Amino acid sequence: MSERFVSREVVQKRLAELEPRILAACERAGRKREEVNIIAVTKYIEVPAIGEVLAAGLTHIGENRVQDGLPKYEAYGETGTWHFIGHLQTNKVKDVIGKFDLFHSLDRLSLAEELNRRAEALGITAQCFLQINVSGEETKFGLDPKDVLAFVQETSNMKHIRIMGLMTMAPFVENAEEVRPVFRGLREWRDRLLSLGIDNLTPNELSMGMSNDFEVAIEEGATYIRVGSVLVSPE
Ligand SMILES: *Cc1c(COP(=O)(O)O)cnc(C)c1O
Repeated sequence: MSERFVSREVVQKRLAELEPRILAACERAGRKREEVNIIAVTKYIEVPAIGEVLAAGLTHIGENRVQDGLPKYEAYGETGTWHFIGHLQTNKVKDVIGKFDLFHSLDRLSLAEELNRRAEALGITAQCFLQINVSGEETKFGLDPKDVLAFVQETSNMKHIRIMGLMTMAPFVENAEEVRPVFRGLREWRDRLLSLGIDNLTPNELSMGMSNDFEVAIEEGATYIRVGSVLVSPE
């Protein structure tokens, strides 16, 4: 097959290999397995393969680009929960709002304003993760930690967005242990922001951990891991 495709059977086999690793990480941290959701990051595969991923029993789909994600949503969006996980341009909000369920990359005021405005027009609330650049890596998107407190104050009156979680991207490293402080830092932000008592700021969820570092992320409190290559890369 010329398309980037993966079959239900292969996804199920990979999932069966992933599960014990997730469970072991939960056990090491004294957490319950149900606290951790797997987002299948389907950016490496094309539209027909999304049906296979859903058929394999995965219910959270993550896409990082509007152009690639929309056709998949149009074909399969009736099923599952759809996560927009990549950098979101302000002028693309209108294309994805009311379709994707969760936005993981809220990282600037102009984006918050546009999400709020478009959500209000549709009579909905946009569910967002605040993306914080905990590691301080220059190449990555995300709010600079020094701007977080001002940001949550400035958005606190936006009634049509809800910040229900925090998201971070850790730098790629050989040994995932090295990025533990990044994940721990995001968890500390969660506790700090929850204590502010702002109405639209209830960041109980932590979106962190990818194929190479999800176990450490789970140990540090991840509630959504975003897994692409080890689970849904093409066969
Ligand atoms: C691609 C991507 C992932 C998944 O990465 P893998 O290493 O393939 O698991 C997670 N989050 C975001 C934002 C991504 O763009």
